[in-house]
Amino acid sequence: MELENLKDASEVVTFAQAVKQGLGKNQGLFFPKKLPKFDDIDAILAMPFVERSVEIVSQIIGDELSRETVTGIVERAFAFDAPLAKVTDNIYSLELFHGPTLAFKDFGGRFMAQCLTEISNGEPITILTATSGDTGAAVAHAFHGIDNINVVILFPKDKISQLQEKLFTTLGDNIHTVAIEGDFDDCQQLVKTAFDDVDVREGLHLNSANSINISRLTAQICYYFEAVSQLSAQEREDLVISVPSGNFGNLTAGLIAKVMGLPVKHFVAATNMNDTVPRYLKTGEWDPKDTVATLSNAMDVSNPNNWPRIEAIIEQGYVDKSVISGDRVDEEYTQVAMRQLAQLGYISEPHAAIAYKALVRKLEEGQTGIFLGTAHPAKFRETVETVLGQPISLPQPLADCAGKEGLDVDLPNDYAALKAHMFKLLG
Ligand SMILES: *Cc1c(COP(=O)(O)O)cnc(C)c1O
Repeated sequence: MELENLKDASEVVTFAQAVKQGLGKNQGLFFPKKLPKFDDIDAILAMPFVERSVEIVSQIIGDELSRETVTGIVERAFAFDAPLAKVTDNIYSLELFHGPTLAFKDFGGRFMAQCLTEISNGEPITILTATSGDTGAAVAHAFHGIDNINVVILFPKDKISQLQEKLFTTLGDNIHTVAIEGDFDDCQQLVKTAFDDVDVREGLHLNSANSINISRLTAQICYYFEAVSQLSAQEREDLVISVPSGNFGNLTAGLIAKVMGLPVKHFVAATNMNDTVPRYLKTGEWDPKDTVATLSNAMDVSNPNNWPRIEAIIEQGYVDKSVISGDRVDEEYTQVAMRQLAQLGYISEPHAAIAYKALVRKLEEGQTGIFLGTAHPAKFRETVETVLGQPISLPQPLADCAGKEGLDVDLPNDYAALKAHMFKLLG
């Protein structure tokens, strides 16, 4: 498979290089030089999830990894389901939260961990990452117990929910967690400083495992196929999918699935008040504003880092721009949507509720709609309980870790202290 840097087309890399490097020169994103297309989509849709996902991944990365290797990666990464839950006669929720950390980021995180394990071939690697919640937990669980890979996760002390924190600080073994006396931006700055420090970068073989890694997108394409496979032939004929969006990785994967032949008529890019993309789709002007905090905090992004990939899909003529429409759902309507869903018997959380609201506004008579359920409601328990006025119970993975002791250490917001700590742990 060949991928090119979207900022410098002369930089062409293999899948393995793109996975290891993350970003290209000038912070450019890697994108496949050519997107494949299935000839017989019905045959693909008829396959079971894991088998079908092996087909999809093999189509994308070509013969760079053997089919046996791809099968192992997919089997280990996709060890849980992505069921469609019926909400009304013609609306479904695609539940992507049945993995170990209860959010869709488990799909991409686990797939990336398995790819990196295969590609690095036993060389030691240190993953260093900063988190404000979901990503850290997914990365920690995905790499937990993998030989030769150590993970160091920085998070802002006392600034994320107890439950979120326990999901990654209680693992131990090769997962090292550090509570920084600062905010999320301080944590990100420490990570950047470490990547600029040759001693640490080379001495500890740093890798960022961040959200723009091409392996994550590759994984996410698979669950769009899984969603459509669960619909009847008739429902597949006029289908709209609504995607709750922050960095727009999820929507990018959906569009690639369409390019590969998946029958989706239209995508709704649903955002909270951080609505750079909906405004851009309406006016043609890219005008990011300051990021505002919302109930759907995993989507509090005003300069989405995957957008250049969507531009590339449109510019290269794979899909027409009219296939995507944007919609912004404000805080009040996020809560209204959560209550409406509860009345329909479906308990949801703010991110999925935004996608539901935007879907309902777009859906026409005779169409079928799917919105992506990106996180389990218990992950946003306080918000959900407040908005719905009813208690919700903890699913097993959260209940299991809630009573355990966190193994994190405290450090000041000081690079020298972090460096000393990392060498003591791993040097
Ligand atoms: C990360 C996240 C999103 C946003 O996904 P993008 O791919 O960044 O657009 C939506 N919902 C939840 C719960 C998330 O964790």
